[in-house]
Amino acid sequence: MTELNHLTIAGALEGLAKKEFTSFELTMACLAQMEQHRDLNAFITETKERALAMAMASDVRRASGQPLGSMEGIPLAIKDLFCTEGVLTTAGSHILDGFHPTYESTVSANLWKQGAVMLGKVNMDEFAMGSSNGTSYHGPVANPWRRKGDNTRLVPGGSSGGSATAVSARMALAATGTDTGGSIRQPAAFTGIVGLKPTYGRCSRWGIVAFASSLDQAGPMCRSVEDTAIMLGAMAGHDPKDSTSVDVPLPDFRKAVEGGVKGLRVGVPKEYRLDGLSPEIAKLWDQGVAWLKAEGAEIKEITLPHTKYALPVYYIIAPAEASSNLARYDGVRFGLRVPGESLDDMYELTRAAGFGKEVRRRVMIGTYVLSAGYYDAYYLRAQRIRALILKDFTDAFKDVDVVLTPSTPSAAFGLEEKFDDPVAMYLNDVFTVTVNLAGLPGISVPAGLDNRGLPLGLQLIGRAFDEDTVLRAGRAIERAANFTAKPEGF
Ligand code: GLN
Repeated sequence: MTELNHLTIAGALEGLAKKEFTSFELTMACLAQMEQHRDLNAFITETKERALAMAMASDVRRASGQPLGSMEGIPLAIKDLFCTEGVLTTAGSHILDGFHPTYESTVSANLWKQGAVMLGKVNMDEFAMGSSNGTSYHGPVANPWRRKGDNTRLVPGGSSGGSATAVSARMALAATGTDTGGSIRQPAAFTGIVGLKPTYGRCSRWGIVAFASSLDQAGPMCRSVEDTAIMLGAMAGHDPKDSTSVDVPLPDFRKAVEGGVKGLRVGVPKEYRLDGLSPEIAKLWDQGVAWLKAEGAEIKEITLPHTKYALPVYYIIAPAEASSNLARYDGVRFGLRVPGESLDDMYELTRAAGFGKEVRRRVMIGTYVLSAGYYDAYYLRAQRIRALILKDFTDAFKDVDVVLTPSTPSAAFGLEEKFDDPVAMYLNDVFTVTVNLAGLPGISVPAGLDNRGLPLGLQLIGRAFDEDTVLRAGRAIERAANFTAKPEGF
């Protein structure tokens, strides 16, 4: 039998139902893998005792014929941005040292309600700002993948890097992530797993540490498209505690997955064929087009004319919102406090010591673009262009049902290769930020390996609240790509 921690959610649910193994055994297998690969630094906090208690409770529910959830007995890793009651929640930052929330985020509570088991809290870029997991106060996370014949440690992407490594290194069956500009899809692509950013408003943001509130969305990171559908169903839903969560019916995502793409109109945006796009990525993209065509989809070239403004717009709006959201960390209410001679002094010393370099950079950019005199020139203009980016998609979706693009402009890189160059780091998000600015659902599916043996992903973007189509097109890519490669030794 396959080692239990290698199972998909669907496979594990089946084995649990047939009583081939218990959730306790499944959870133990994951905990053993976590312990064996601590050097990857995926977890900030391991919650072994809670995991075993939750698994045993699930086994009791199953054995005694009680109602079972859709994720019954499935061990998960939770990004350290989700508040978990009584369990340290740091958002990857020094400033949240010792913060044990007294409440549970809606998304994680939904997962527990469906019977899932918490293995622990996973590492991430500080306050979800980054694309490499290199900005975490708790140190970088390593990608379990390496280049062929080269031992350089590679990044797992970010900001949900701990989630991506935990899932690809078979420590957890799946993980939660959050995506403000690509933080689910980019690390999923870098580690050969599936990651979905739902439509803005599909999942509640309540109890998730805020980065940029108009862009943040939680989503699943899994080892198959079917698992992604199962987990999304468990995470999503209207929540009266988040006024931006939308009260729309929750479809049976799992049912949609095998729908096929016959007759589906797939758009290929010409603006994403950037000058200097790596020939390997371009080839994979063409291959994706050919796969969907062979499955009966109709391919159309489309135009998203404002694409070139997306990165600058994102890097105005996200820091603006972050500078406001992060104002609450002042040494009084949460975590770290550095004493000073006056109240102002204490604020300043706490924030200087508590925030890392990238967070300080974002707070300064955000404060600048919101300040009197610059607000109209930067922030207001960015908001206007954001509306045009959404309009590009709305127009395109009159002619097509789903859009196919690469997920990232490159495969995983070494930490030292980009870390000192913020602009090179920001360029990672070139294919993903448009989706957040427009509030649409997007998935990254592993589609192939580059010539150095590293995974590459393809992205599918759908209409708002049409995750069904995104999942079914993603499944078609998954089936055609038949991506079975695993990081060596895992
Ligand atoms: N890499 C992007 C950033 O640094 C996106 C992060 C995210 O999606 N949380 O802002």
